[in-house]
Amino acid sequence: CPIGPALLFVKAGQGKEEGRRFYACSACRDRKDCNFFQWEDEKVSETRLAAREEYNRIHQPPFTHSQNMERYKNFVLLPLSKRRFCQECQQLLLPAEWEKHSDHQFLCDISTAQLKSPSQLLYPLENKKTNAQYLFADRSCQFLLDLIIDLGFRRVLSVGTPRLHEMIQSKASQEDFKVRSLLLDIDFRYSQFYTEDEFCHYNMFNHYFFGGEAARETCKKFLYQDNGERVIMVTDPPFGGLVEALASSFKKLMAMWKETEKEGRNNQEMPMFWIFPYFFESRILEFFPSLNMMDYQVDYDNHALYKHGKTGRRQSPVRIFTNLTPSTIVLPAEEGYRFCAVCQRYVSSGNQHCEICNSCTSKDGRRWKHCVLCKKCVKPSWFHCNNCNCCALQNHACEKTDAGCFVCGKAGHKRSACPSLSRT
Ligand code: SAH
Ligand code: ZN
Ligand code: ZN
Ligand code: ZN
Ligand code: ZN
Repeated sequence: CPIGPALLFVKAGQGKEEGRRFYACSACRDRKDCNFFQWEDEKVSETRLAAREEYNRIHQPPFTHSQNMERYKNFVLLPLSKRRFCQECQQLLLPAEWEKHSDHQFLCDISTAQLKSPSQLLYPLENKKTNAQYLFADRSCQFLLDLIIDLGFRRVLSVGTPRLHEMIQSKASQEDFKVRSLLLDIDFRYSQFYTEDEFCHYNMFNHYFFGGEAARETCKKFLYQDNGERVIMVTDPPFGGLVEALASSFKKLMAMWKETEKEGRNNQEMPMFWIFPYFFESRILEFFPSLNMMDYQVDYDNHALYKHGKTGRRQSPVRIFTNLTPSTIVLPAEEGYRFCAVCQRYVSSGNQHCEICNSCTSKDGRRWKHCVLCKKCVKPSWFHCNNCNCCALQNHACEKTDAGCFVCGKAGHKRSACPSLSRT
């Protein structure tokens, strides 16, 4: 489809019936956004292949990355009064193009500062669930960058983190700032502002570089660490995305990093921050057992629910998963984080060390309580239910014994958690 190779899925069969496998778009869960569909064993005719190629071609962006770079060079030569940005087309306009966009809304007097913060100029995409853009609040972005610098990294592979990339880029133009960043993102609008060495059009659900071999080389070259310039990958994928697909791509990026050194790195992994909600912890650890979840709450600008909760607003459920030693990830004391000497990591102020679990067990920052029957700590709002034999909200509907799984028919789990699905 237009955004690269499709992924192989399985349509759940009912009961004992085998599921049927098919290819569909790697990023769009909604057929309205991309209707690519093909059974695994389906024969595709030459005509249909040709039509598909044609369709993919016309669904590419109007300008290539290098054309956008040419345009940018011309754009910055213009006097302020002639620098326009079309809000409808999300595009920098050259004077010869004004006419064509005459009935569109536009911004004028685009300053150099604005060109350096494209994430403020572009509107965040939110139409498609899997493509939604949630931009870091300045506080969180600054925290991440300081942490990266304190840990001694000099290169950041920014996968779906345009705002972090932007912060690094604008500091890089100042003296004495040695950190560099390469942005990999599916949002092609960024190619108007960054060169081919700063931005690659990339799909993180299928590890697809739209710019082909040249872009792949750019990425590989960036990952090569000369004179000890250590690299870290930071990613903040859309939360609706498939963890499996993301993990598979990240493993390929890690393999790319490994390839850059001939002797190999004695089984070391490329250092990584994967930013994702805490309730995906077990999914993420399934694919990356080397990752640990940190208590730091990552905040966003344009997400009402995920803002930092000092004034009684909800707290952010988004965390940092990292393969670096937890004790080295120092969290800000002024925001209430403290070091737990037993766990050897920084935890939120409300996270109490449980003597029975022998760990700081809270996931959401509130103080959790230990249930002796469940033999683990649970959310403060939960109570042990003797019917269900586990802890749950007080007013939960007890699990009905007759409602079996839609896929395998067995009781005790729902279709989404069916063990017979995880094999495919
Ligand atoms: N908090 C980050 C933005 C995260 S939003 C920041 O402030 O920098 C998710 C990002 O992932 C967006 O930039 C979006 O364009 C990008 N993205 C969404 N789907 C993607 C895909 N399939 N491949 C690569 N990037 C994707
Ligand atoms: Zn326009
Ligand atoms: Zn502890
Ligand atoms: Zn406990
Ligand atoms: Zn319990």
